[in-house]
Amino acid sequence: MVRTLTDPHGMKRRGVLFVLSSPSGAGKSTIARKLLAAEPELGLSVSATTRPMRPGEENGRDYHFVDLDEFRRMVADHEFLEWAHVFGHRYGTPRAPVDAMLKSGRDVLFDIDWQGAQQLHQIAGGDVVRVFILPPSMEELHERLQRRATDSQEVISGRMSRAATEVSHWDGYDYVLVNDDVERCFENVRTILHAERLKRSRQTGLIGFIRKLTTKS
Ligand code: 5GP
Repeated sequence: MVRTLTDPHGMKRRGVLFVLSSPSGAGKSTIARKLLAAEPELGLSVSATTRPMRPGEENGRDYHFVDLDEFRRMVADHEFLEWAHVFGHRYGTPRAPVDAMLKSGRDVLFDIDWQGAQQLHQIAGGDVVRVFILPPSMEELHERLQRRATDSQEVISGRMSRAATEVSHWDGYDYVLVNDDVERCFENVRTILHAERLKRSRQTGLIGFIRKLTTKS
């Protein structure tokens, strides 16, 4: 996988694989949308899923909606970087678009769960930055899911019980933020991305630069 990007000042660096996870309803989608709008050098990994499309969703934009046979074929053909069972459906990250985004010099945003974060970290190690977003309280999470009104009561209570399990994986993340104010949470997520881009371990052009800097003429 090619992960060498070039910063505006010409320094080569490795691309960031930026993972955002949260229990559904904690505001992750809003933050992801804001981040993509603010950061032109960040592309979104669009997952494939076997779950049915919700009202307002668009095939290819929110997910690639595929049937079980197609999903199984993609698994067999090693088309996924990672995949997992979530809420009784399958979700996977297609490999080719991620490679293409990194090659074209963009970092990549992943809206995936803790299982995906774990698998990506196993594959790409230090190139992965894992951010977990917590709701301010479980009551607030319940209210947000109710307000969303796209899911049945049964689905909502299923998501509430899953939320507790997802939160229990908070320690598999590099950063854990509480979304009690969406603007502030977004700014914090953006700050993390900016700082991670500047990490010494990502600056692959640094050794050459330092060498030039310290070579006596
Ligand atoms: P939803 O059905 O609400 O869109 O997503 C349910 C959960 O699946 C979310 O936590 C979301 O982050 C996760 N998810 C979406 N795409 C992927 C994926 O490609 N891989 C994994 N592991 N999880 C995903």
